Amino acid sequence: MPEFHTDCPRCGASHTTFDYVAQSARRHRAGMKTFVFETYNVCRACDRGTIFIMQNINSMLRGNNVDFPELNLALGKTMQVTKHISVRNQKAKKAPDDVPKKIANIYLEATESLTGNCYNAACAMFRTALDMTTQNMVSNNTAIDIPKDDNYTLNKRIKWLISNNFIPSELQDFLDNVRLDGNDAAHEGTATEAESLDLQDFVDTIFDRIYVQPAKLERAKQRRAERRKPKNKLPDSDK
Ligand SMILES: [Zn+2]
Repeated sequence: MPEFHTDCPRCGASHTTFDYVAQSARRHRAGMKTFVFETYNVCRACDRGTIFIMQNINSMLRGNNVDFPELNLALGKTMQVTKHISVRNQKAKKAPDDVPKKIANIYLEATESLTGNCYNAACAMFRTALDMTTQNMVSNNTAIDIPKDDNYTLNKRIKWLISNNFIPSELQDFLDNVRLDGNDAAHEGTATEAESLDLQDFVDTIFDRIYVQPAKLERAKQRRAERRKPKNKLPDSDK
C-alpha cells in the first residue's frame, strides 16, 4: 500500500507515516488543465483518517489519470501535500452583496471562524464588522458631523448615531448585544456556539437595515426613473 510522511492534523504527530486509501481528482481551478487530488489516508500513529489535498510534483505524470496504488512507496516523491480538508472547508456564509467589500470580508472571517468552532474569534470579528460599519458611515456620509469625543469608542459612536437619527433606534439592542458579547469574547474568551449564532443573526439584521434595504429602495427608484424617461422620438420616415 502506498505510504508517505507528513504531520498528522488529528493526533499532532510530526512527520508520521500515513497509509494511502483512496483518491479523487479535481481541476486545480475551474477551467484549468492541472489537477489536484483529494486523498483519504490513515495515520499509523493514531489510526485516524484525514483527507489531504495533494499536488503532482513529478513532471512525468500529467492530468488526472494518476494510478496512486502503482506509485506505492514513491508516493511521497511524486505527490506533495498542500493542505488538509477540515471543518473550515464547510461553506461559510457570505455577507449580502450590498455590504462594502472590506466589511463583507470581516463578516466572512467571522462565519468561517464559526464553522471552525472558534467562537471567541467569531464573536470578536462580528464586533469588528459592526465597528467598521459605524466608522464607514461616519467617514462616507458628509451629513454626519460627529464630535471627536463621541467618535472615540464604538459605544459612544453608536449612541451619537442613534440620537442623531443616522441609525434607527430599534437597532439599539442588536448593536449593544454585538458590542458587549464581542467585547467579552475578545477579553474574557467565554463565547459559546449559541452566542456566536446570536451575533451572526444580529449582524444580519443590522446589515439588512443599514445596507440591504436602502440599496433595494435605491434600485427601485432608479428603475422607476428609467421607466419615466421620455422615449426617443421615432424618425419622420418611421411615422
Ligand atoms: Zn495521527
